[in-house]
Amino acid sequence: MQHSRTAALEVAERLAEGSQYIAGSLRPGSSGRRHSVVDPATGEAVHPYDLASADDVDAAVAAAREALPGWAGATPGERSDALHRFAAALGEAADDLALAESLQCGKPLKLSTGFDVPGTVDNTAFFAGAARHLQGQAAGEYSGDHTSYVRREPVGVVGSIAPWNYPLQMAAWKVLPAIAAGNTIVLKPAELTPLTSLMFARAATAAGIPDGVVNVVTGTGREAGEHLVAHPGVAMTSFTGSTAVGKRVAEVATATVKRLHLELGGKAPFVVFDDADLEAAAHGAVAGALINTGQDCTAATRAYVQRPLYDAFVAAVAELFETVVVGDPFDPATDIGPLISHTQRDRVAGFVERARSYATVVTGGHAPGGDLAKGAYYRPTLITGAAQDSEVVQGEIFGPVLVVLPFDSDDEGLALANDTPYGLAASAWTRDVFRAGRATREIAAGCVWVNDHIPIISEMPHGGYKASGYGKDMSAYSFEEYTQVKHVMYDNTAVARKDWHRTIFGSQVTP
Ligand code: NAD
Repeated sequence: MQHSRTAALEVAERLAEGSQYIAGSLRPGSSGRRHSVVDPATGEAVHPYDLASADDVDAAVAAAREALPGWAGATPGERSDALHRFAAALGEAADDLALAESLQCGKPLKLSTGFDVPGTVDNTAFFAGAARHLQGQAAGEYSGDHTSYVRREPVGVVGSIAPWNYPLQMAAWKVLPAIAAGNTIVLKPAELTPLTSLMFARAATAAGIPDGVVNVVTGTGREAGEHLVAHPGVAMTSFTGSTAVGKRVAEVATATVKRLHLELGGKAPFVVFDDADLEAAAHGAVAGALINTGQDCTAATRAYVQRPLYDAFVAAVAELFETVVVGDPFDPATDIGPLISHTQRDRVAGFVERARSYATVVTGGHAPGGDLAKGAYYRPTLITGAAQDSEVVQGEIFGPVLVVLPFDSDDEGLALANDTPYGLAASAWTRDVFRAGRATREIAAGCVWVNDHIPIISEMPHGGYKASGYGKDMSAYSFEEYTQVKHVMYDNTAVARKDWHRTIFGSQVTP
C-alpha cells in the first residue's frame, strides 16, 4: 500500500515543470496564485502548482488556433493513425495513469486500474476507428436542377471544462471526439484533479499528435474557466459538471454565440418491480450506488421498490452496505475510498444530518474513525422514509448515499422515477419484457438500463435529458456536437436565366 502511494507521488513529481500544457510542453501558470492537489485519503497537499491566468488561457487558445489548419486539413486516415498511436501510448502509461488517478481522487486502485484507465484506452481506440467514418446524407439531385451534398467540417477550437469525479475519462470524452473530427482543443480540468489530464495531453504528444492540438490549462472555474468560455477565439464550449455551474457557463457562452454542449448533474432512479430478481437488484443497487464512492453522475441514488419486495430489498441492501470495505485507495482490500475532499464529505454528511429529522438512516450516516479519521471518508448510507419532495430525494448528494422508497402501481413507480429535474440515467428491474419495454419508453433519461445499472460502452452515446443537459459524449453521436454540416449545392443546368428568377424578373424570364 505504501509502495503504491510512493509510486503515485513519483508519477506526480514528473509533472513538476508546470501544470499548463500549451503547444506540446509543460509550463507553470502565471496567475501568481498556487493551488495543491490534496490526497483525500490523508488530507495532505501532495502536488502544489501555479494556477492558470487569463494570459495562459489566451496562450493555449492561440496554440490551438495555430494548430487548427494543419490538423483539420489532415486526412481522416492520418488522424486515425495518430489516435491509434495515442491509444497505444495510453496503454503503455496505464499503471502510472491509474496511480495518479487514485492519488488525486482517492479512488480505489482496483477502480482506476479496472475501469478508468482501460475505459479511456478503449475510447481512444474507438475514436481512432470512428475518425474514418463520419456520416452524412448521400449526395443527390434533390432539386431536379442541382446536385446537393454535405460537408461535415470541424467547428474550430473547442474549449472544454471537466469535473473531478472521473478526470481521466472526462478528459478523454471531451478531447477524443473533438480531435477525431479535426478540431483542436483547450481543456480545463477541475483544479482539484489536474494530474491525469496533463498526462493524457503528454501521451498525445508522445504519440505524434502535433503540438497545439491538445492543450490543458489548470486554473479556477471563475478565472480560467470563464475566460475560456467567453474567449472569442473559441468556437464551441463543451462542459461537464454541475447543473448550477452549467447554467452560468451557458449564460457566458451565449454572449458570444458559441455552440454549447452541456453534460450536467444526475439523480438516477432505480426502479424495482415486484417480479424482479431480488438478489440481482440488491447487488445492483449497492454497486450502482457506491461506485466511485457515489460520486458518479449516473449512480443509483433513488431506489423505488414495489411494495411486495420493499422490506426484503431494504434488508438486503443494508446488510450488503455493512460488508463494504471503506479504506485506503492503495489497499487492495478496499472497496470504496474517501470522497474527493473534506468539503465534499461534509456536504454529503450535511444532507444526511438534515434527513434525520424527516427520514430514517438505516445504516451508515457517519465517518469511520481510527486510521481513517484524517481522510475524507464516509460510510455507505441507506435512508428510508423520506418524502418524494424531500431534499435527499430531489437533490444531487454526490456521495455514498442511497434513498429507498416504496411504490404500489407501475404507473406510480414510473411517475416517481421521472419526478426530479434531472434525466441522465435510470434503471428498471423486472423479468417481464412488457414492463421493461414500458419503463425504457417512459422514463425520461439519456440512458435506461434493464436489470443492470452503470455499464457504459464506447460505441453508445452518453448524455442527458432535462436539467442533465444536452448533447452526447462517446459514440458516433458525439460527432454531431463536434462537427458542423455544410450544404453545398451545384447548379446542373448551365442556364443563365433560371426559372426561379421569375420571383424577381417576373415576365422577363423566358422558360
Ligand atoms: P462543478 O460544476 O463544480 O465544476 C465543473 C468544472 O467547472 C470544474 O472544472 C470547475 O473548475 C469549472 N467551473 C466552476 N465554475 C465555473 C465557471 N463559472 N465558469 C467556467 N467553469 C467553471 O462540478 P464538479 O463538482 O467538479 O463535478 C461534479 C458534478 O459534475 C456533478 O454535478 C456531476 O453530476 C457532474 N457530472 C456530470 C457528468 C455527465 O456526464 N453528465 C459526468 C461527470 C460529472
